[in-house]
Amino acid sequence: MKIAAVETYLMQAGSPAETAWSEESAGGMSLSGTRQWLFVRVIAEDGTYGVGEGSGWPAVVQAAVRDLAPLLVGQDVYNIDRLWSRLHLAQMGHGLTGTVGGGALSALDMALWDLNGKLLGVPVWRLLGGKFRDVVPAYAHTSSVETTKRLIDRGYRAFKTGGVSSALDKATALRAAFGNEIDLMVDLHGPPWLTPADARRMSREFEPLNLLFLEEPVAPEHPNELLRLRDACHVPVAAGERTAKIWGLAPLITSGAIDVAQPDTGRFGGIGQMKKLAAIAEAFGVTIAPHAGTLGPVAEFAAIHLMAAIPNALILERFGSDWPGRERVISAPPVFRDGGLEVPDVPGLGVDLVLDEIAKYPAQRNTGIPNDAHYAPGTANEHLYIQPRFNATGLRARTAE
Ligand SMILES: [Mg+2]
Repeated sequence: MKIAAVETYLMQAGSPAETAWSEESAGGMSLSGTRQWLFVRVIAEDGTYGVGEGSGWPAVVQAAVRDLAPLLVGQDVYNIDRLWSRLHLAQMGHGLTGTVGGGALSALDMALWDLNGKLLGVPVWRLLGGKFRDVVPAYAHTSSVETTKRLIDRGYRAFKTGGVSSALDKATALRAAFGNEIDLMVDLHGPPWLTPADARRMSREFEPLNLLFLEEPVAPEHPNELLRLRDACHVPVAAGERTAKIWGLAPLITSGAIDVAQPDTGRFGGIGQMKKLAAIAEAFGVTIAPHAGTLGPVAEFAAIHLMAAIPNALILERFGSDWPGRERVISAPPVFRDGGLEVPDVPGLGVDLVLDEIAKYPAQRNTGIPNDAHYAPGTANEHLYIQPRFNATGLRARTAE
């Protein structure tokens, strides 16, 4: 079966007024108005198609996918890994590494897995070697006890909080309110505004909170500092969302810098790359917790199949209710039950695009800086790499200057 065509669909994920991180994380970092989703369809000569999603700067990834498409047309759809290598090699002149190329590979690889599943009549998790679980644990985002209560009522059992300020206060309040009834994670977003020395001190303050993991306590530009931090504290460390392909993330695993690897399903390089990464991680006792960030709903399905099929799946990040359009642009959202997402049992990924709905949200804007008060213009916080130190009260509540 030959590939006949590749299509791309770029959309604005919500109007500026309603687009942000999840409703539940109101008060946290926001990228209002700048989120786009890129979906692709890889169409076989018999009309069967697979769907995929790529991030890593979707508007740029769209250009990359269109540039790569002629390398797929006319090729045999069944040789997924060979086609991946073909697309990867084609990026040599562009430097090979990086999340933009990783986003293009992710979108096309994802669509090829979906297409293969449909043509062969099996779910993607079966192509990956079968499943370990029927439900993939997932966590929601929260910034308050009240929000967490609402999410617990909806069935969530695991939560991530954090941000660039008050992360310790938020996590302490949640643990005090719910005890060990919940799993708790903290994301410091790889802060360039936190010096490595401050990060080590702050990490030790999280030790009593029994975190599932502490995410990106130092900036990804300083991988050696991540290793020093992990040696200095007794908190499981997670990182990897801004890396691409196995060569980008494996060094954090093999060097012993992290306990949890967080490949982004839309920009890491594809389902095949994530499966390979999971094997590397397994060899070093590291678990997998895919990053979602600004991703749309198709990549979430890909993550569910991957997480179903690997032994060292930890938990999946999700923004299930961040914008109503998330559920409208696909055929149906994943089923949430028992604190996680049900693994689909239909051919392919189990999701389709609703093209008429996607067309209602034409792409507008794809860049911006977070509008959190801590980036306030005219203050020392305007420029991220000034690295202002947090205050001496244990890096607790901090206000813009
Ligand atoms: Mg993060």
